[in-house]
Amino acid sequence: MSGADDFGAGEPPLIALRGIRKRYGGNDGAPAIEVLRGVDLEIRAGEFVAIVGASGSGKSTLMNMLGCLDRPSEGGYRFAGKDVAGMDADELAWLRREAFGFVFQGYHLIATESARENVEVPALYAGMPAAERHARAVMLLERLGLGDRLDNRPSQMSGGQQQRVSIARALMNGGRIILADEPTGALDSKSGAEVMTLLGELADAGHTIILITHDRKVAAQARRVIEVSDGQVVADSGADAPAVARGALPPLDLSRAKYDSGASLWSELADAARAAWRVLWINRFRTGLTLLGIVIGVASVIVMLAIGLGTRQQVMAQLGAFGSNLLYMSSRGESSRIPGRSITLGDLEALADVPGVAHVLPNVTGNKVIRHGNIDVQTYVRGTGAELPRIQTWPVARGGFFTAEDEHDMATVAVLGSRLAEKLMPDVANPVGQTILIGNVPFQVLGVMSAKGALTGEQDQDDVLLLPFSTAGIRVFGQREPTYTVLAAADVSRVAEVEQAIDEVLFERHRIRDYGIGNAAAAIAAEARTQDNMTMMLSLIAAVSLVVGGIGVMNVMLMTVRERTREIGIRMATGARRRDILRQFLTEAVLVSVVGGVAGIVAGVVLAGLLLVWEVPVIFSLSAIAGAFGCAVITGLVFGFMPARKASGLDPVVALMGQ
Ligand code: ADP
Ligand code: MG
Repeated sequence: MSGADDFGAGEPPLIALRGIRKRYGGNDGAPAIEVLRGVDLEIRAGEFVAIVGASGSGKSTLMNMLGCLDRPSEGGYRFAGKDVAGMDADELAWLRREAFGFVFQGYHLIATESARENVEVPALYAGMPAAERHARAVMLLERLGLGDRLDNRPSQMSGGQQQRVSIARALMNGGRIILADEPTGALDSKSGAEVMTLLGELADAGHTIILITHDRKVAAQARRVIEVSDGQVVADSGADAPAVARGALPPLDLSRAKYDSGASLWSELADAARAAWRVLWINRFRTGLTLLGIVIGVASVIVMLAIGLGTRQQVMAQLGAFGSNLLYMSSRGESSRIPGRSITLGDLEALADVPGVAHVLPNVTGNKVIRHGNIDVQTYVRGTGAELPRIQTWPVARGGFFTAEDEHDMATVAVLGSRLAEKLMPDVANPVGQTILIGNVPFQVLGVMSAKGALTGEQDQDDVLLLPFSTAGIRVFGQREPTYTVLAAADVSRVAEVEQAIDEVLFERHRIRDYGIGNAAAAIAAEARTQDNMTMMLSLIAAVSLVVGGIGVMNVMLMTVRERTREIGIRMATGARRRDILRQFLTEAVLVSVVGGVAGIVAGVVLAGLLLVWEVPVIFSLSAIAGAFGCAVITGLVFGFMPARKASGLDPVVALMGQ
């Protein structure tokens, strides 16, 4: 077996192989086949070597070994004196990127990118700034006679042209060692001759050329010919003339053999996004179908939330019309065992002084028969305060409302609810100024309230007669104490505090909770909770469709990885690290989701806009839109991760040879 000592002393050769063996299979019961059976080989910088042998003799396997695309099963490989076996995946990627340039029989260009972009790929992973990268790619392509083909895709070029593009790519990062595996194999004789001339010129310029061929005539054009048969070196024409004489390229600084991509994260991301966009655009139909899931997900989140919010606000507004700053106080005890006791006017005076109480509106109520002309109507009579229209935001429609003075004077004046006005005076054009009778007391009608249109329980709030509190108490009901009292808090947000303060004052005075306090805000809050639950449920449904969209992204990414295995291999051969591949495919997944998210936002806003036209209450919330978009992107990231990791985990040789 070979050891480090076998490599000998003195100036180390650029490449030194000792006892290299490569076996395939043998782990699933099938017999292992040994493709390389102890290869010893030394190649010095600046040599132009041809490795020749019959098909199946192991030449390509040897080349993969030399180019650090594959590791030997056994044996030692020293690159410029450094043991390659001790390098990790990133260091090997660095070596491929800085030292080698590959030229393959099948060209191995990336089908979705132009000639210039293909040539730029190795520099991408070397972190060369974009402007420098473009300029160098153009320069190389022009030097190889492809100045007019910069923007052509591989499919738009002949075989010879494609092979020249791949040579330009091999030179992009310097190409100290060009590894060419049957570079003329797929070409007509003229293009083949051109490629060979090119390789000869590069050898003269100081590049180390390792040419692999089955054709002895082609091999003869190299300065050194090594013959391989059945996995062993069987002949070697001997080392080439000293490389230094022809001015070999400066040696590689192996102490820098760690991956340092000089480009900023942003420019790398921009490059990845640009490449991703290209791929998605080429597969736009398939991408579009995948996107549909995300689009529907995002759009439905937006629409559902907009409807939820809109309905919520509408309900709140309706409830707010009852007055969310109002408290209702009745003489109903806290439990049925405590008899209710009247709230006295003295209580009310005390309550008027509670901080935060803006108004105290005592009411005395009961049902009475009202007469006008020969029409009798039984209605709900409410003796109340002059501030009622303002406190309950219930404006007068016609005429006016009674004043504090009327109340003080116990004036026999009345205001009709709109429904009562219809019932009592169906034929009267203007009820204002008419006289009605309660029992035998005549009242003058001052005005008619606007329609509230709301019901409390079974009762129509517009079927009501409003009188001054004092008049109603003494002249109609014969009682001085209020039936119930409305208290208005000065600040809507402090209703609960005011309620507590009122309770304290009353409890102090009564020593027992023989009264009840309720507030509209509590009812509103309860309603809001119901609405929020609805919104939550709708959002959940929408979120499910986002997940479905994510699965679509994963599906299309898995397909992409399968289809582009060879591209992944090419990228790895030109120096991409695992994390570069991971980033590229993640970028694609995220880009799909971003595009889907944006389309979803547009669709959602348009849809909700249409609903608005149909008078469905909708309210857009920026946070809902941002949230839906964010979820879409995260979905893409999460569901794209698995395929991306699968891609980055591929073995360079396997990927390169894969379909
Ligand atoms: P050449 O390039 O000289 O034609 P290769 O190096 O491609 O020869 O292949 C040498 C032998 O190794 C062939 O018999 C081939 O079938 C076998 N071989 C190459 N790669 C693999 C692999 N991944 N698994 C199993 N056998 C392989
Ligand atoms: Mg081969």
